[in-house]
Amino acid sequence: MTEQLQADIKPGRLSNAEIEANFSDMHPPLERPEALIEADRCYFCFDAPCTTACPTGIDIPGFIQKIRSNNVKGSAYTILSENIMGGMCSRVCPTEVLCEEVCVRNTLEDQPVRIGLLQRYATDAVFQSELQLFQRRQDTGKRVAVVGGGPASLSCAHRLASLGHQVTVLNAAEKPGGLNEYGIAAYKTVNNFAQAEVDYILDIGGIEIRNGKSLGTDFSLADLRSKYDAVFLGFGMGGVNELGLDNDQVEGVVDAVEYIAALRQADSKAELPVGRKVLVIGGGMTAIDIAVQSKRLGAEEVTIAYRRGQEQMGASQMEQDFARTSGVVIHHWLAPDLLLLSGDRVSGVQFEYTRLDGDGTLKGSGERCELDADIVFKAIGQNVLWDAMGDTADSLELEHGRIAVDDNRKTSLPDVWAGGDCINGGEDLTVCAVQDGKLAALDIDRFLRQQSGRPDGSTGHAGFCRHQILFEQSPVLCHN
Ligand SMILES: Cc1cc2nc3c(=O)[nH]c(=O)nc-3n(C[C@H](O)[C@H](O)[C@H](O)COP(=O)(O)OP(=O)(O)OC[C@H]3O[C@@H](n4cnc5c(N)ncnc54)[C@H](O)[C@@H]3O)c2cc1C
Ligand code: SF4
Repeated sequence: MTEQLQADIKPGRLSNAEIEANFSDMHPPLERPEALIEADRCYFCFDAPCTTACPTGIDIPGFIQKIRSNNVKGSAYTILSENIMGGMCSRVCPTEVLCEEVCVRNTLEDQPVRIGLLQRYATDAVFQSELQLFQRRQDTGKRVAVVGGGPASLSCAHRLASLGHQVTVLNAAEKPGGLNEYGIAAYKTVNNFAQAEVDYILDIGGIEIRNGKSLGTDFSLADLRSKYDAVFLGFGMGGVNELGLDNDQVEGVVDAVEYIAALRQADSKAELPVGRKVLVIGGGMTAIDIAVQSKRLGAEEVTIAYRRGQEQMGASQMEQDFARTSGVVIHHWLAPDLLLLSGDRVSGVQFEYTRLDGDGTLKGSGERCELDADIVFKAIGQNVLWDAMGDTADSLELEHGRIAVDDNRKTSLPDVWAGGDCINGGEDLTVCAVQDGKLAALDIDRFLRQQSGRPDGSTGHAGFCRHQILFEQSPVLCHN
């Protein structure tokens, strides 16, 4: 039986061509005529609820208007000056619960403006033309250490560098990009876009990146505080929550994030072993992503089991629909109770049905069911790996196991800021991490200028764009 089960986890369930088709661009980019038609649908609302809903506050009607008037690179500048990862966010943002949800055209009779695709249209033009829109201000002589190489850290590093500071990024992984490189579903970011975006960010200059360097192993927070003028922490959440069952560590129970990282780094996806019957436990974006990607690798039966109802799932309705249309079955109100074994491998999970009692507490109903599986993915959330970070946690104020910060993303230490998934209160989205990094950088800049007795220079983006005058005076040059 064990051999049979092991044989049921194998690579090459589909041909290379099938896998390539399954992992092609999920939302192909708009062609120019489509983009112009879509831009024309915008009402250019005075109060622009879409901008308010964007965590990075991009002037959405502003960038759409520039697409309409053929100033595509000016449009990209409007986007990237608020969100330097506007290219990645146009691919991965759950726009259906952010800007597009509140778009005034989002009515029963109409559809929201496809803001995400328009954002991609504008930012792709800049990447394709290899046009660097940003330049550094004069060197301030101040040095900032940035821990982590994900969206929060890279956004912080870019803003700091543009403001003239020298930035050293210390990143544990072999490649920069964080979950953009290792976590986002492969069909959302094709053609190595994550690395192209990192290259664009680093191209501004003033950022030294050191990969394979871990806080807690290679250096401590105290080391950084003594060597640099300020520190930003953006180390994300490296740990995955356990199921909390007696035999969690049994073979065949796999961390979904780890598997997705392997999938993202694989030279050939056809070589990844995939189960015939895949069971995913969780209800967020990671659960949807591992389920859909397993299906697209050739798994026959893929089931998500979530302990609460459809409305409580962390994954948006659109993501849930996407999973269903990809052939994934979603069961609600099931809490894992016991891992079923065949030999020393998992062969399924026994669940208890759940319900909410009068005061909203989740309760087991006493009824049980079993679902077969030859691989079980844990996707029930992540946590900060404090144990791997030496005494970092001792010197910082924490809330709910994450770093406590103020509105400017400053921690309880006067010279340390933090952002992204490792801080408390965020939404664990790429776009929120980018905003955290940006806000922290602006506050670090104020701090450093005050320290050196210089006037506050953090005045937004004036003097920030190489091509601003070009855009204003010679829009012809900025045509696509
Ligand atoms: C599977 C998955 C799919 C997702 N899909 C989406 C999506 O489609 N859309 C969306 O908006 N969001 C998505 N998210 C969430 C999004 O990826 C995160 O919110 C975002 O990446 C957080 O950015 P960050 O910079 O805080 O952390 P991360 O991206 O996790 O980056 C952390 C960085 O810190 C480094 N690091 C870790 N420990 C140390 C250390 N001790 N010392 C030095 N460096 C360290 C890591 O190597 C990494 O480079 C997804 C998350 C997961 C797990
Ligand atoms: S809410 Fe919709 S129509 Fe109004 S400005 Fe934003 S994208 Fe345009």
